[in-house]
Amino acid sequence: MTNKSATKTESQELLPEGWEMVIGLEIHVELATATKLFSPAQNSFGSEPNQNVHPVCLGLPGTLPVVNEKAIEFAARIGLALNCTVQKCVFARKNYFYPDMPKDYQISQFDEPLNIDGWVDLPVAGTRIRVERAHVEEDTGKTTHVGDSGRIHDAGYSLVDYNRAGVPLVEIVTHPDIRGPEEAKEYVDEVRAMVVAVGASDGKMEEGSLRVDANVSVRPAGSDELRTRCEIKNVNSLRSIGRAITYEAKRHVNLYESGKEPIQETRHWDEEAGRTRDGRKKEDSDDYRYFADPDLVAIDPTPEWIAQIAASQPALPAQRREALVSAGADSEGAALVVQRDLDSLVLAVIEAGGEAKRVLNHATNNLAIEGAEALSPSNFADLVKMEADGALTSTQAKQVLAEMVSDGSTPADIAAKHGFEAMDTGELEATLDEIISSSPQEWERFVNEPEARGKLQGFFVGQVMKATRGQADGKLVNQLLAKKANS
Ligand code: ADP
Ligand code: MG
Repeated sequence: MTNKSATKTESQELLPEGWEMVIGLEIHVELATATKLFSPAQNSFGSEPNQNVHPVCLGLPGTLPVVNEKAIEFAARIGLALNCTVQKCVFARKNYFYPDMPKDYQISQFDEPLNIDGWVDLPVAGTRIRVERAHVEEDTGKTTHVGDSGRIHDAGYSLVDYNRAGVPLVEIVTHPDIRGPEEAKEYVDEVRAMVVAVGASDGKMEEGSLRVDANVSVRPAGSDELRTRCEIKNVNSLRSIGRAITYEAKRHVNLYESGKEPIQETRHWDEEAGRTRDGRKKEDSDDYRYFADPDLVAIDPTPEWIAQIAASQPALPAQRREALVSAGADSEGAALVVQRDLDSLVLAVIEAGGEAKRVLNHATNNLAIEGAEALSPSNFADLVKMEADGALTSTQAKQVLAEMVSDGSTPADIAAKHGFEAMDTGELEATLDEIISSSPQEWERFVNEPEARGKLQGFFVGQVMKATRGQADGKLVNQLLAKKANS
């Protein structure tokens, strides 16, 4: 896998000639534990404000944090999925003042994180994105600035909700290996699928359980320098990640091309305006005065514990795609089916005798995700066999499948109910012959005027469909037309 060939084009298409994008992503993943990282307060989304709060979350005097073992297990599962080394780690205090964090420090990990040196391979871009670290930390509370813009500078007052304070997070940091918005989106989507697959998070971007900060800079294409970057916050969907990166990279190129330079800062993505806006100047890590938290001991996972976690990892998206490909799927279809979480159904249908290509086609184009898990694999396989035998046209098969989901009947019953019957080739040929003899001029042109053939083909297929009330197999009609024209 190389980074250059696949990605140069994406950067080149979007930026003026001679520039390429350099992107590193930080993904915050909220872990799906029952309770918070250091307290017994409940970890749940959507409660009334300030309901899930314990004295530890507020750092009240006399309280002491106790590490949630399940959070460490989830974090290690994420680390292993990312091909990281899971190692001894130390919690550190990251000191800064903000009302959403009443301790005045956030418990994070600094120079000894739990997971280091991993990678993610992207199936579509064909690139490998190196993961620098995936550390454990607590989330902060949430402030709402009440005023027209929702931003602090013109707010009348601010409200603070500590339900999220102390919720366990894993922060996954890449090396600056990403070269374009599509690659960035694919990386986020793959990581999202991984954390969901290992059961560590629900991965819902819309609820904030997966949040992305994008670090963006540009450089002359092909060079390996690292120029000044900006960190973009507030990108809440895959779509805005792509838009924000493209906007920011273009802004940097414009600055350089007009003899100026970007400054290192945190910027906010404004989805409505379609642009980034300047925020605060970026702190250096020195400003946070990190030091090991004296209230917590180091965590030193034993090789046995790591091996046990590794042995009980659920199948990862890459393995699930591979299983489909070995069962006869093409790689693009496999990616889609795993993304739609329909892979175990598809494998079962293929196992029950359904032809892989047709099963994939239904699973990617004709099947709604909701309700699909109720389908019986053997009924689904029977449908595919009926279609392959020519007993159902593809349009009919699609309709039968939809009804199988809604009422659970067998494909044979549904087809019989609608009068979808096999039309054998002989019957179809006879119908076609009648149509040809009643439209001699059209047929004459179909045979002798190659430029009119496409249009007239539509005419003849339409006539056959009309005569057979849609029961003819369109593909077979086309084959018969070609055969007759050439004979
Ligand atoms: P910080 O300590 O400020 O968070 P890091 O060095 O940890 O900074 O990097 C944060 C993120 O920024 C990483 O994902 C990294 O890959 C990315 N990054 C670093 N330098 C650049 C650059 N020049 N252009 C784009 N991204 C960068
Ligand atoms: Mg950082």
